[in-house]
Amino acid sequence: MKRLLFLLLHLISHPLIQSEPALSYEHARQAVLTAEEKLMTGGHTHLSTQEAKVDDIFMEYKFGELSQGCRNAEQNAAALHFFKAKPLIDRSVVFNFLQKMPKGAVLHLHNTASVSSKWVIQNISYMSGMLRCTTATGHSVLTFRRLPKEHKCQSQYVLVADERKNSVDRQVYDNNFERLINLYTPVPELEYPTITHVWDRFQDIFSVLGDALSYLPAFRAYHWQMLEELYNDNLMYVEIRSSCKKLYDASGRTFPRKRTIRELYALNNKFTQLHPDFLGMKIIFAVHRGKEVDQLRETIAEFKQLHEMYPNFVVGFDLVGQEDKGKPLYTLLPALRDLPSTARLFLHGGETNWFGSSTDINLLDALLLNTTRIGHGYALAKHPILLNAVKTRHIAVER
Ligand SMILES: [Zn+2]
Repeated sequence: MKRLLFLLLHLISHPLIQSEPALSYEHARQAVLTAEEKLMTGGHTHLSTQEAKVDDIFMEYKFGELSQGCRNAEQNAAALHFFKAKPLIDRSVVFNFLQKMPKGAVLHLHNTASVSSKWVIQNISYMSGMLRCTTATGHSVLTFRRLPKEHKCQSQYVLVADERKNSVDRQVYDNNFERLINLYTPVPELEYPTITHVWDRFQDIFSVLGDALSYLPAFRAYHWQMLEELYNDNLMYVEIRSSCKKLYDASGRTFPRKRTIRELYALNNKFTQLHPDFLGMKIIFAVHRGKEVDQLRETIAEFKQLHEMYPNFVVGFDLVGQEDKGKPLYTLLPALRDLPSTARLFLHGGETNWFGSSTDINLLDALLLNTTRIGHGYALAKHPILLNAVKTRHIAVER
């Protein structure tokens, strides 16, 4: 392999003089193209005759859409902002094909952002007793209990059902309601001019919906739907990041985290019994990275208990939230070192545009902490030594 690389490097760094036969030029050219192709995903995959037939169909679709994009840049979904590309993706035969194909696993999914917003509107927001209040910053909080201090309400609670009934048009009300929990806008460049704008809005959505999803009946329905949607996308297995919040019911009772895990465990059992071809879900306990070391220590102590009770279900630990603003892993080391050796780490790392900052150095600490996978890892490309370590240690990068 080294000899081949040397030969290829030699060929491209010493252009062939014209007097040499044209074939050598063609050979050199082809050799480089073939070598690069082999480095691509699937470069060393060999297809059976049947698989090759499927591949032919798929590639026909793919080249069809790529050439359409090549002719018309506005139709080039792969080069557009996701929101601009979304309508094209929905119509895309490639996407349709991929949706039906059997897929292995989802290894990076935050549970509270895992279900389609349409379903949440049509189901959770129609559950009797849903309340809404507004905070000082004008954000809505959705809930099924009255805790004005905790919800930071500046307004009275109103019943969503009453608001909807009194609205001029129910459809318009539901569309506006969906905007509370969906980041979509047709003009992202105007609404989210910087990374901070989009992160703030993104994190707001979790606080809009968070308390409503901790209401036991909503929690059950929502997570069941999450599994349904994954199953319908022909997935076989999922590991979800969850903060495993405490739950409450209509009578005002609250339940500890143990109960949250027990609920998820029971849902998983029921779902896999009904769908034996689905392998099930596991939980990665996720904590916000803005916590102080002492607070993190307390949460890790709780995680330890849950992991001991369900070692094969609550499998690991992660820190979530905007890395650029949160505490660097290095400052949280005293708490992270308390994690039990049987629990694996699935750390978000290097989810940043910065270089040489504490954020991209999170990747180094994630590796020193022996992370099993890395969430996003965009900054890896700027750290060749770390990238090499990720490859040699077979650490998967979740994009
Ligand atoms: Zn994430």
